[in-house]
Amino acid sequence: MLDQPKTAPATFTGNRALEMEEPLLFEIGRPETSGVDVEEPEPFEDCLGGLERQRPIGLPGLSEPETLRHYVRLSRMNYSIDAGMYPLGSCTMKHNPRLNEKMARLAGFADIHPLQPQSTVQGALEAMEQLTHWLLTLTNMEALALSPKAGAHGEICGLMAIKSAIAARGETATRKIVLVPQSAHGTNPASAALLGFEVRSVPAGDDGIVHAEDVASAVGPDVAAIMLTNPNTCGLFERDIGRIAKLVREAGGYFYCDGANLNAIAGLARPGDFGVDAMHINLHKTFSTPHGGGGPGAGPVALSARLAPFAPAPVLIRKGEKLELNEDVEYGQGFGRIAAFHGQMGMFVRALAYMLSHGGDGLAQASRDAVLSANYVRAKLRGLMSAPYGDRICMHEVLFDDAWLSGSGVTTLDFAKAMIDEGYHPMTIYFPLVAHGAMLIEPTESESKASLDLFIATLRRLGEKALSGESELFHAAPRYAPRRRLDETLAARKPVLRWEGGAT
Ligand SMILES: *Cc1c(COP(=O)(O)O)cnc(C)c1O
Repeated sequence: MLDQPKTAPATFTGNRALEMEEPLLFEIGRPETSGVDVEEPEPFEDCLGGLERQRPIGLPGLSEPETLRHYVRLSRMNYSIDAGMYPLGSCTMKHNPRLNEKMARLAGFADIHPLQPQSTVQGALEAMEQLTHWLLTLTNMEALALSPKAGAHGEICGLMAIKSAIAARGETATRKIVLVPQSAHGTNPASAALLGFEVRSVPAGDDGIVHAEDVASAVGPDVAAIMLTNPNTCGLFERDIGRIAKLVREAGGYFYCDGANLNAIAGLARPGDFGVDAMHINLHKTFSTPHGGGGPGAGPVALSARLAPFAPAPVLIRKGEKLELNEDVEYGQGFGRIAAFHGQMGMFVRALAYMLSHGGDGLAQASRDAVLSANYVRAKLRGLMSAPYGDRICMHEVLFDDAWLSGSGVTTLDFAKAMIDEGYHPMTIYFPLVAHGAMLIEPTESESKASLDLFIATLRRLGEKALSGESELFHAAPRYAPRRRLDETLAARKPVLRWEGGAT
């Protein structure tokens, strides 16, 4: 049953005006009900040799209108970028242009099958070729693997290429270390560990960036690669990146750059110019393809000339007029496949539509606007919220910590929950780990000035309440959400993945 807000009387139905309560499908469905009229099958002899099901499967049945209402009501409990601002730092929740959706639904893209003869999907392959061209131009790199299906998957792909390159040099036994800065996204050390590398941590300086001196003392002949994010997860540009790349390369290692945050520099700076060897590009961040429940990710990996021969299959090859997705790993020294087929076609089309509709100048403008939005928020919240790295100009996201809340009885979590009552998806909290009680805000270029102003005014108002002793309001938050504080730790540790209540 719904927890009613303290300020409003409980309702008989649990509904609150147009916000409807909704039980589980299993609680409202009846096995004997169906939305379709299916004829009883003719008697038949099964071939299951006694393994046939002995009792009804017990799936809940609903009529068509009941089904529709169930899912519509659930969807209305969700927050989305279409509903409001979604300032989730590092995740880049930006507007998904409708033009992209329209393009992805064209029958020539949406209704084709990966096993169709390649001669019948030349247009789709050409879209992949164009996307490759754009991504290589934006990064100034040599080769592209399109198939990885998310940023973290791209990390695995890039590191596997590095691993293959090291194996080809006969150094597998000696190069076992991957350097990862403290401020890295958690997926970086996880990817390295998953592939059997040892992770060596590199400290970030007091100014939030990694210093070449610290890399110099960590690098050596045992180092396979460094994984560095630029701009980093504190929203700062890694100023030493050129020197760091040189140090690692001179020591015989490879430079993996986490390019999830390319949206701050696309069209302005090219990672290939920093000496990057491998980098994943989250199409679902920089190039606006829907994610976070709205759609699958896509994390193509750009590779330098020295890693290009180690790209995974399939490889897109042009032979005169014809394009071919080469499935055999007959060429190069690649490690094989990283995923089934060729990647997320629908996301490729959306990302390409985004690029073509913006043009090169428009992509650069989007990057500038994303950085401007974050700095506007930073400048307007200065004096209220504390920033761990002082008043430095940030890139696409701005990092605050919880020092300003100390003594107020309000934590970062309480503050985030109070934002929900005001109709905002909270910012990223408690990440990056290098900032105490971190609050990482990424407004993106999609927000208008009016929208940013309202957001800033809301945070100011909440902040003033927190500092003036109204901590109770925060502890009770969210009061107006369909669900209030859930035990997230319990949910993660003991997930209930099966409905057992009404099983037949
Ligand atoms: C989002 C992100 C990732 C992981 O990308 P997924 O698509 O979620 O797997 C890795 N690194 C950074 C810096 C990110 O922001």
